[in-house]
Amino acid sequence: ESLAPESTHLAPEAVLHRIFGHAGFRGRQAEIVQHVMEGGSGLVLMPTGGGKSLCFQVPALCRPGLGVVVSPLIALMEDQVAALRQQGVAAAALHSDLPEEQAREVRRDLARGAIKLLYVSPERLSLDTTLARLAERPIALFAIDEAHCVSQWGHHFRPEYRGLGMLAERFPEVPRLALTATADPRTVEDIRAQLGLAESPVFRGGFDRPNIFISAAAREQERAQLRAFIKEAGDGAGAGIVYCGTRNKTEQTAEWLRADGHDALCFHAGMAAEDKRDAHRRFARGDAVIMAATIAFGMGIDRPDVRWVAHLDLPRSPESWYQEIGRAGRDGLPARALLLYGAGDIALARHRIAESPAPDEQKRIERGRLEAMVSIAEAATCRRRILLRCFGETPEAETCGACDVCRSPPRLFDGTIAAQKLLSAVLRTGRRFGVGHLVDVLRGRTTEKVAQFAHDQLPTFGVGKDLSDTAWRGVARQLVAMGALDVAIENHGELVPTDAARPILKGDQKVLLREEALTARATPRDRTS
Ligand code: ADP
Ligand code: ZN
Repeated sequence: ESLAPESTHLAPEAVLHRIFGHAGFRGRQAEIVQHVMEGGSGLVLMPTGGGKSLCFQVPALCRPGLGVVVSPLIALMEDQVAALRQQGVAAAALHSDLPEEQAREVRRDLARGAIKLLYVSPERLSLDTTLARLAERPIALFAIDEAHCVSQWGHHFRPEYRGLGMLAERFPEVPRLALTATADPRTVEDIRAQLGLAESPVFRGGFDRPNIFISAAAREQERAQLRAFIKEAGDGAGAGIVYCGTRNKTEQTAEWLRADGHDALCFHAGMAAEDKRDAHRRFARGDAVIMAATIAFGMGIDRPDVRWVAHLDLPRSPESWYQEIGRAGRDGLPARALLLYGAGDIALARHRIAESPAPDEQKRIERGRLEAMVSIAEAATCRRRILLRCFGETPEAETCGACDVCRSPPRLFDGTIAAQKLLSAVLRTGRRFGVGHLVDVLRGRTTEKVAQFAHDQLPTFGVGKDLSDTAWRGVARQLVAMGALDVAIENHGELVPTDAARPILKGDQKVLLREEALTARATPRDRTS
């Protein structure tokens, strides 16, 4: 006869204090623990570092029976088991890398009821022998960590996770708690369907990082903007990361930052392993160093005092942007994030998705993510609120006070006439020109090119003297962002109207535009955006 592990006979708060040494639950932990204590199942969505583990560890210790934790990563399992043992919890791991002798010992301990918390790989759990053994004694709960592995929509699909759907049928009385940091709605629905959690609540929380001040701006003069940002974000103290869209750009950026007097390095996937290791080491060492990197730089950055993160190119989704800026301010002290972007970025990202060989469904999802990212960049209301809503979290307050929009809300103006002027300049010049030339035409400048094409003879010539160059480029970019204009990326970046331009030109649709920062002084010929 096998014995069941006993509960600690302590209330959740007492376990939290005495075993884990924490003063109180954080965020939604208390609510989740309570729900599981009462036998409920559910899905927990919290970012990395949000405190997911306690949500299942505490009820596992408080409820009678064995707590079973499914985890896909052996290293992670071993870490958690070691930490729990140190805290005096009878925890063990069972996975394919375990030498047979040790696996036998774990099985023997299980049979004796000497294990309270078992970490197991999905393939081990799915074995009939394992399931038969588990069915013999009470089970406190099943926790399914990294639950996004069950979904084919993400990049972490693990076929063995599919089998976990059977837990609902084989152990209908046992609470099942799935946990993940992925909050993408599509993945969430997939997890709930696959794991039989469609009727169970979803607990979301902890995505806000209130100590990070977030801002975004149109790319006017990239280097001047970055320089000003670095200065503001605490020049000289802590570290910073500049994310660039290409490998080349990381090298160039690191180079001019060095010329500017900073200790700057670059990092991208194309570097020699040794150089990458070196860069990592220097960054970890704690100097005030700036890393100009592609998104390949991320894993294993546990430096707590990264003071700022800048993006020089538009990230492909709110999820990736969130993850990248989340590397700042882990110490809880004030940190800053800046996003620079231009119409070209938006158009390029759209083209890439359109031309990718991915299935339509996948493209639709990626387009949705990109457009969400664009709406954050172009926001006229609190950026943090839009970002958090992407993760299904709706903050109570309309304003966060820690983003550039909340600090100085942009003024909106009825830009219908300006939009019409720009669109007709595009049409009358034959859809063959980029924003620089169009601005020249609108502002009535007789440049060589204007003379060459006789564009000073057009009715639109000089009709836009009321707005600055910066403002006109802002109008163009906002029209691109709202999909009324496309940028011909594969050619020379000429602006091309889409179907969405028609109602604007006909006066059937009003266009609200943000007044561009009139202080952002671009040189008249600057065309970086
Ligand atoms: P996740 O699994 O969501 O990435 P963890 O469970 O590893 O996050 O928790 C992240 C960190 O936060 C850990 O160091 C953990 O000890 C700490 N933590 C979690 N909950 C609390 C709490 N209620 N009080 C204090 N620290 C906590
Ligand atoms: Zn805000």
